Amino acid sequence: MKDYEVVIGLEVHVELATKTKIFCGCSTAFGGAPNTHTCPVCTGMPGSLPVLNKKVVEYAMAVGLATNCSITRDCKFDRKNYFYPDNPQNYQISQLYLPICRDGHVDVKLEDGTEKSIRIHEIHMEEDAGKLIHDEWEDVSYVDYNRSGVPLIEIVSEPDMRNAEEVIAYLTKLRNTIQYLGASDCKLQEGSMRADVNLSVREKGSTEFGTRTETKNLNSFSAIQRAIEAETARQIDIIEAGGQVVQETRRWNDDKEYSYAMRSKEDAQDYRYFPDPDLVPIHISEEWLDTIREAQPEFKDEKMLRYKEEFGIPDYDINMITDSKKLADIFEETTALCNKPKKVSNWLITETMRILKEKNMDPEDIAFSPKSLARIIELADEGAINSNVAKEIFEKIFDEDIDPDKYIEEHGLKQVNDEGALKATVEKVIADNPQSVADYRAGKEKAIGFLVGQTMKAMQGKANPGMVNKLLKELL
Ligand code: ADP
Ligand code: ZN
Ligand code: MG
Repeated sequence: MKDYEVVIGLEVHVELATKTKIFCGCSTAFGGAPNTHTCPVCTGMPGSLPVLNKKVVEYAMAVGLATNCSITRDCKFDRKNYFYPDNPQNYQISQLYLPICRDGHVDVKLEDGTEKSIRIHEIHMEEDAGKLIHDEWEDVSYVDYNRSGVPLIEIVSEPDMRNAEEVIAYLTKLRNTIQYLGASDCKLQEGSMRADVNLSVREKGSTEFGTRTETKNLNSFSAIQRAIEAETARQIDIIEAGGQVVQETRRWNDDKEYSYAMRSKEDAQDYRYFPDPDLVPIHISEEWLDTIREAQPEFKDEKMLRYKEEFGIPDYDINMITDSKKLADIFEETTALCNKPKKVSNWLITETMRILKEKNMDPEDIAFSPKSLARIIELADEGAINSNVAKEIFEKIFDEDIDPDKYIEEHGLKQVNDEGALKATVEKVIADNPQSVADYRAGKEKAIGFLVGQTMKAMQGKANPGMVNKLLKELL
């Protein structure tokens, strides 16, 4: 077999986090009853006219700036004509001739430590289509236009990626950047971020690209990885057998781990694009662009450098915290309150992560206040509560953000640091457990653990464990 190189370019659709649709005032909220978030505009009624949602343009500009694109100061919308029931207008409003952003790049770090720049060809704004639900049992199809007119940006990369690792690094960076901007939640599973993989193979050393296919329906990074591997193998097999790859759109079935042809690939001319006569061109003034530029947040890469300088916490912690803007915000606010960065980091990367995983939640769903976490850290540090009680209270604030001081008061959870009170209990535990005492005295150091446990139990978990240890050693 010859030596092959894989060439990949991505088309990434991102649903923008606006409250209303791109050309009408209908809600973009997820999960309404079918066809309840609709109006004459987003159901394509004759005579209705679109009005552009300004926020869509601002999000698109923000993503373009964050990905080093140049912003098209006079851009406009075009009609992409096609006939299908998910699209009641018979055309999708999109941008072909003058997309809002062009010529950007996203720089990614790879596992071997090298950096690679993935070029962005363009980012354009467009509207989402409705949803078709096929009921094979009843032999009918239903249409739901709630998604019709939800704003999207499509980010088109150059064919710069060479393997799945680069693809996932690019998507991870893109997703993180867009989440930091608050422009979308970018959930692949829920379809608010959708990546279509254009892939071709060529003989290593060749300067020309091979024929590509486009694979759709990829709902996770692992599905993307599997689809890339399968499509690479499929194309190489065709070429090795003397055949030719057909340019087409394929649909990935992740359960069965294979893709099948959906349709032959249309060219732009098949869509009979033309400028939308119902929408005026958009002029982006210098001031408007400046406002968006100034509102750009500090992104992950910048944050990582600053955290290292300012807080001196380990790289591992920094990387994990800055993966989510929400976690980074909580980290910064909590640290500002208690001035204990490493302790805050520990709570975030261990307990918080554990609970998130257990409850199948995203960091974005966290509701506890930095104030409550800072208070728990302070109380534990002062010795007012022990670490088990601290964890118990943390679980409580995670669920309903209760007031830690009140909770401790109401549940009598204050740590007992009073030597006199502890001593009486320790003496009783020693008297009640002669076997462990004998073991300890005979040199079995581990026996003391049992006695500490018994004392903690007798004190309902509130004793100061360090003090219990010390007292036991003194008394034995
Ligand atoms: P179209 O307009 O027909 O969809 P584009 O030129 O816009 O085609 O390319 C769509 C995507 O396919 C882009 O992300 C691009 O990088 C990628 N692409 C183009 N040619 C190839 C190729 N030969 N192999 C892999 N990807 C490709
Ligand atoms: Zn509407
Ligand atoms: Mg395209």
